[in-house]
Amino acid sequence: MQAILKATRAPGLKVATVPKPSAGPGEVLIAVRHAGVCGTDLHIADWDAWAQGRLHPPVVVGHEFAGEIVGVGDGVAELKTGQLVTAEGHIVCGHCLQCRTGNSHICKNTRIIGVDRDGAFAEYIAMPATNVLPLDGIPTTLGAVMDPMGNAFHAVLTAEVPGSTVFVVGCGPIGCFAVGVARAAGAAKVIASDVNARRLALAQRMGAHVTIDAGRDDVVQSVLAATGGEGADVVCEMSGVPSALHQALAAVRLGGRVQLLGIPKGEIPIDFAREIIFKGITVYGVTGRKMYETWHQMRRYLTAGLLDPRPVITHQFRLAQIDEALAAIRAGDAGKIILEIA
Ligand SMILES: [Zn+2]
Ligand SMILES: [Zn+2]
Repeated sequence: MQAILKATRAPGLKVATVPKPSAGPGEVLIAVRHAGVCGTDLHIADWDAWAQGRLHPPVVVGHEFAGEIVGVGDGVAELKTGQLVTAEGHIVCGHCLQCRTGNSHICKNTRIIGVDRDGAFAEYIAMPATNVLPLDGIPTTLGAVMDPMGNAFHAVLTAEVPGSTVFVVGCGPIGCFAVGVARAAGAAKVIASDVNARRLALAQRMGAHVTIDAGRDDVVQSVLAATGGEGADVVCEMSGVPSALHQALAAVRLGGRVQLLGIPKGEIPIDFAREIIFKGITVYGVTGRKMYETWHQMRRYLTAGLLDPRPVITHQFRLAQIDEALAAIRAGDAGKIILEIA
């Protein structure tokens, strides 16, 4: 089958012919229709320090996808061929302390498809049936982005959002999804900041009431002005940029909550007393999607039509155009990019 491969310990990805997988016991075989391209794939293509320390090529990349079940392994009763599905790409152990206490998203033995084992930029992928979710009528173009959208759902729905003011820092694809989720969950006011005008326009399209150009405006003053001087009840930090992290902590109200999703490159000095402790705020690290609470919530929001995430998908390419897809991410003002595979 055709797949996009990290073939060697060097920069670049290549389209290659690799053996077609089959569904082992407890697994299903999925013919991939659409897949989402992510910043993680860019790190793998560029072969940065993180990728060098984590990946063992050759590996098929890609972790966000949706497709059709075409094979069912032994012991799988709940899924059938012909079903359109997506899947959680974090494969967890099921027996560590976190898994046994309802916190599989921070399983200490997590293996990620397209990183630690073969992924979804391929005509077929075999997945544990436990990780698979029927799309229930959601199109595969959206199913392909439910992994990153799930991060936004996790970030927003683990805070108390109904009637709240929510400030989303950073309007990349996950930030824009978060704006939509916050609106759908009943936020009274959604404020969004970014340095990129196109991304701010996308955030506005997803329902942001107030947008702040972080390259031009005083972000914290703008949030205070939009919240009657209080600061935001909930801040979702989606950028990982040091200045934006400080803005997130400064813009949250006393006693508020900061959801940290953006991943900074290195260490960032924080004045813990002034920025966190004396403000009495709660800081929550968002990693992955809650299994499977986030997925069920997201599927209900989508099937009920509570939010329309389609504007966030700005580009679609064929599998063989992976280099163009990566270039569009590098350009910095794309929303979500998907690959059409079959
Ligand atoms: Zn991703
Ligand atoms: Zn575990």
